[in-house]
Amino acid sequence: MELGIAIVLVIGLAVFTVTPLLAPEGPTEEALPIDVTPLTDLKRRRMVVYENLQDLEFEHKAGKVAEEDYKSLRENHLAEAAQLMLASQEQEEITEHDLMIERQVAERRAQRKSQNPDPYVCPECEFENPLPVKYCGNCGKQLPQQSHKK
Ligand SMILES: [Zn+2]
Repeated sequence: MELGIAIVLVIGLAVFTVTPLLAPEGPTEEALPIDVTPLTDLKRRRMVVYENLQDLEFEHKAGKVAEEDYKSLRENHLAEAAQLMLASQEQEEITEHDLMIERQVAERRAQRKSQNPDPYVCPECEFENPLPVKYCGNCGKQLPQQSHKK
């Protein structure tokens, strides 16, 4: 009987000491890093493919992979790498394009805000005439005469 109690105690103690080590470390593992964008994700995946390729080369040289397997696996890896490369190029273009549009919109808004209503901007070509003029300095169209309303 005493032995039984001793065993239970030992097991209890073991569980007690091991449990904190096994417990997950709070929410840190669930939270994704903020900088995981589609682009960085694609780059990360490409790195994995390249690592796999290197492993394959290595194992092939070590004679662990049959010639046929090596060829088809290599084809697969290369195709995947090419696909990921293409995808990240597209992603980069999209990002740049978006940034350009955002910048233009911001510029337009800033212009509208600082100059609205601006009688000197030509409604035809959107040229900004620096002086109150009757005719657009760029395309020659007559400008709406709003300047004396101010
Ligand atoms: Zn004009």
